Amino acid sequence: MPNGQKFVEVSDLVRVFATPEGEVRALDGLSFDVRHGEFLSIVGPSGCGKSTLAMLIAGLMRPSSGLVALGGRTVDRPQTNLGIVFQNAVLLAWRSALDNVLLQVEMRGLDARQYRHSAMELLASVGLEGFEKRLPHELSGGMKQRVAICRALIHDPPLLLMDEPFGALDALTRDQMTLDIQGICARGGKTVLFITHSITEAVFLSGRVIVMTPRPGRIDGIFDVELPRPRRLAVRADRLEHEQRVRVQVLVLSGDDDVADDFRELHWVFGGRVSRLPPLRRRLQSPRLPRRRDNPSGRMPCAPSCR
Ligand code: ADP
Ligand code: MG
Repeated sequence: MPNGQKFVEVSDLVRVFATPEGEVRALDGLSFDVRHGEFLSIVGPSGCGKSTLAMLIAGLMRPSSGLVALGGRTVDRPQTNLGIVFQNAVLLAWRSALDNVLLQVEMRGLDARQYRHSAMELLASVGLEGFEKRLPHELSGGMKQRVAICRALIHDPPLLLMDEPFGALDALTRDQMTLDIQGICARGGKTVLFITHSITEAVFLSGRVIVMTPRPGRIDGIFDVELPRPRRLAVRADRLEHEQRVRVQVLVLSGDDDVADDFRELHWVFGGRVSRLPPLRRRLQSPRLPRRRDNPSGRMPCAPSCR
């Protein structure tokens, strides 16, 4: 499938959970596409339905209404043509790193011997050369998560779903993993849906970032990140500017003016023009920009790309 065509289509997706305390509306009318070859991130507060969305796309859960399609086909059963990485590596303790990667092909009834060489190459590509025979308890958290990523990629799926894959790692390891993922995705021409709490990671890796509202999960904004690739960790003003736009959106959504006040030095892009923001409290009291409670949409004016 050529790059740029719709690969993942999410249309008016609703998921309601029945609980003893009543219904929990996790997702409420979510619609977006992921184009073939695109790296798209989803950021949103805890409980806004990100993992539910990943399960629905993978076909591990059925929607209450709406639909998900992959490559033009409605998802109505567990999908095999994708790789999933969760927050925890979930490795089998008695299998080596290599055998944990090969588990994926064994589960698919394929001949693991034929994939041995690719598995070794994948492990080497994420810096695990020489660690193939190690058991999980001999590996660091970051190494285990690298093994999990190799396991998700060994059958060369066109789509990679990552649900807070670096959530359990320290900051330095996260940085290195971010670079690793960038490298893997650049080589493999993968379509990636990356779920994260980290705005920095989302902006660093993505072509687009979707910001979700608190539960029930809806799309609040979609941001284009038009930075050249490959991207480097060294902080650059244009990357920060993208991060700040997303961060302001998230802060305004959170409705926490005190937190938002701490970010009063943020820049905001008004229609492509960068201007320095006054302190948020003052801005909210300004007659030209209505206070939040008077603003029925609950949103600040938004750059054209996030509408
Ligand atoms: P996130 O990944 O964004 O933190 P989740 O998708 O895990 O959010 O959960 C979204 C909401 O749905 C939460 O309120 C959660 O408690 C609820 N939820 C998720 N799975 C279930 C379930 N199996 N049964 C009941 N409620 C659930
Ligand atoms: Mg989650």
